[in-house]
Amino acid sequence: APLHFSLLTLFPELLRPFTQEALLGRAVAAGLLKFDLHDLREHAGNRWRKVDDSPYGGGAGMVIRVDVVERALAALPVRPDEIILLTPAGTRFDQKMAEELAEKSHLALLCGRYEGFDARVEGLVTREVSVGDYVMMGGEAAAACIVEAVARLRRGVIGDEQSWRDDSYSSGLLDYPEYTRPAVWQGQGVPEVLQGGNHAAIVRWRRDRALERTLSRRPDLLPAAGLTPHDSAALLE
Ligand code: SAM
Repeated sequence: APLHFSLLTLFPELLRPFTQEALLGRAVAAGLLKFDLHDLREHAGNRWRKVDDSPYGGGAGMVIRVDVVERALAALPVRPDEIILLTPAGTRFDQKMAEELAEKSHLALLCGRYEGFDARVEGLVTREVSVGDYVMMGGEAAAACIVEAVARLRRGVIGDEQSWRDDSYSSGLLDYPEYTRPAVWQGQGVPEVLQGGNHAAIVRWRRDRALERTLSRRPDLLPAAGLTPHDSAALLE
């Protein structure tokens, strides 16, 4: 069965191309993914299609009404396995959460705008997720992040399964550096070992570079990376 995403937003046209182009578009055509877009304004409940109101207690901006969200969720033909609220106050999204979500069959992603949602929306969702410690103007780009990271973990969505096992984070380490032609560019060459045919040496070189990169850029990832004694020795060099 396809992995089904229901995207609830005030700007469905922002997300539509995402669901149609490139690998996601291809996966939809192949029946591996399914997307539907829902305009929260359809559930405004007034002829002005107004979904927000000013905050109790005063202050700047507008807040999206909880009754609008409730009607939009109730109008989904089937209840999703997860209803995910995108908010900077949520649990930080990461590869582990992506792997967990990729096991589900139907995810709803609820995108905010303005000052976000009435706090009572929390009671209507299964989890609150943030894509990082910064504030964007809307939840659409956050939903796109989650779709991109989750969809590619489904079998068949990207061609070669090995390619995601090797990626940064899936292996617990940052990815090793890759090179392609030309062999020399502006005086910068490609490491000799990659141009030879010694497969074992290439595997060892890549592992060592991944370790080195992780140590210099993201040492916080190393304790959970499952290092072998050989890895630890390489790090000490
Ligand atoms: N007043 C809110 C706060 O400080 O938590 C910020 C609202 S933000 C301007 C508008 C919408 O963008 C939010 O409702 C949320 O859907 C989305 N958004 C912004 N930054 C986000 C992030 N880091 N992760 C997930 N969603 C985010």
